[in-house]
Amino acid sequence: MTIFVVGGVMSGVGKGVVTASIGTLLKECGLKVTAVKIDPYVNVDAGTMNPIEHGEVFVTKDGAETDQDMGNYERFLEVDVPRVNYMTTGAVYQTVIERERSLGYGGKTVEVVPHIPLEVISRIRAAQEASDADVTMVEIGGTVGEYQNVLFLEAARMMKRDEPHNVLIVLVSYMPVPASLGEMKTKPTQYAVKLVNEVGLFPDLIVTRSTHVIDDVRKAKLGFNCGLKAEDIIAAPDVPSIYDVPSLFRKQHVPEIIINKLKIRGRCPIKSPWVEFSKKIHRKGKPVRIGIVGKYFSTGDFVLGDVYLCVIEALKHATWHLKATPEITWINSEEIEKKPKEISRILGKLDGILIPGGFGNRGVEGKIMAVKYAREHKVPYFGLCYGMQMATIEVARNILGWTDANTTEVDKQTKHPVIHLMNEQEERLRNTSYGGTMRLGEYPCILQSGSLARRLYGHEFVMERHRHRYEFNPVYRERLENAGLHCVGTSPDNNLVEIVEFKNHPFFLATQFHPEFLSRPFHPHPLFVGFIKAALNKKRA
Ligand code: GLN
Repeated sequence: MTIFVVGGVMSGVGKGVVTASIGTLLKECGLKVTAVKIDPYVNVDAGTMNPIEHGEVFVTKDGAETDQDMGNYERFLEVDVPRVNYMTTGAVYQTVIERERSLGYGGKTVEVVPHIPLEVISRIRAAQEASDADVTMVEIGGTVGEYQNVLFLEAARMMKRDEPHNVLIVLVSYMPVPASLGEMKTKPTQYAVKLVNEVGLFPDLIVTRSTHVIDDVRKAKLGFNCGLKAEDIIAAPDVPSIYDVPSLFRKQHVPEIIINKLKIRGRCPIKSPWVEFSKKIHRKGKPVRIGIVGKYFSTGDFVLGDVYLCVIEALKHATWHLKATPEITWINSEEIEKKPKEISRILGKLDGILIPGGFGNRGVEGKIMAVKYAREHKVPYFGLCYGMQMATIEVARNILGWTDANTTEVDKQTKHPVIHLMNEQEERLRNTSYGGTMRLGEYPCILQSGSLARRLYGHEFVMERHRHRYEFNPVYRERLENAGLHCVGTSPDNNLVEIVEFKNHPFFLATQFHPEFLSRPFHPHPLFVGFIKAALNKKRA
């Protein structure tokens, strides 16, 4: 069974969350569910895209650099969604062209239709098979009516034609409530439905995203005009948290409606953990104020926040788990650089400081200053990837006195390259082979006994996801250890440093990997829990 989720009227209304929420509710009914994301751009994956263009890249277990929606699927469905579940126009064309080059089409003319949609369908089926799924949710990026996703909609039409009873179309559409009118308007969505009809598809369910709950009058009107019953029009008003959406849909019997339409076996449980979860996260607990020190991404008059989405989610999961209330603030590392004397004003009120992943030299000095502040003032510090590299540079500069210590990503000439390019990376960069060539995906890490990391994880061997080109330079390992920076997590051959900890500090831990990718609402990541616990304790002291 395949459920296509397509967007109408405008993008950015949360199709990913809708897809993930429907998926998790169907999973609760005893069905095996997986989810596929289709991005209409020509980039082969999200890895080489600027965060301003794309937001944070989500790395799958098997090392694909994908869209953040894949993260939502993993968080909501509590499954690992593999590489096959992600495709872009570029990836689809690349496969078709490579197949043609190796005579895979047996000398036939290869055409945009049907060969491109056929490749899309074969990828959807491969994802379905890889997860042995009863239901595959397929989210088509963008909105209907755009030139770019026509071939994906054509794939949906071809699948629906072949198996009319096994394919559903869900339209997630925006319903504006213009301030000048004070009334919810259905017409833009009616037009969106017309566009869906034009490509030969008919929505089976319309999810109406809006600031308000759609009322019965408009449900009836929209249903009448779009050939649907009123109960097939689902209200999706703005809610305080994305984790409120599953219980919102459950109340409107979305899983039952879908199960009936698809005629599959599945029984909705009397109780759903999402209902309780959605209550829990809104209970006021002790506030914990975490500052994410990173570089800002601004576009025009707007500043983008979702470049660290997984980090924010992971912080929330851990904080809710400890029955506290997260207060996450953004700190522009360039501001620290500009006003170094004001660092206590900028960082002083925080219970914890986190430096997330990053690339390039902008804002790096401010990050290193933030690490120094956290170390000296005993503020819990958690570094992720670039955040570990910054911590290493800080200790090298300010404890060992190597004032020029740096990563060669920022300063190629430094005499103390405490972070340097991994061996296999040199050639790749020389050949400008940037796409998909970092150290990506899941790798093992062994934890030293007696370390904080080992205590938090509760075992010796962990698998974590990576996305980096540079690494801790082993030449400096002993000297950095003697300075107090302990390498407590390493690759099994002990060559790569994966976790560093600074002793005699309430919490100073940094990882070369990205633990945020593995945090789930019901299963927060142990390192994040440890960090938030330390942050809560700081406040009490
Ligand atoms: N820029 C650093 C590297 O490539 C860190 C990457 C990251 O933070 N994801 O190693």
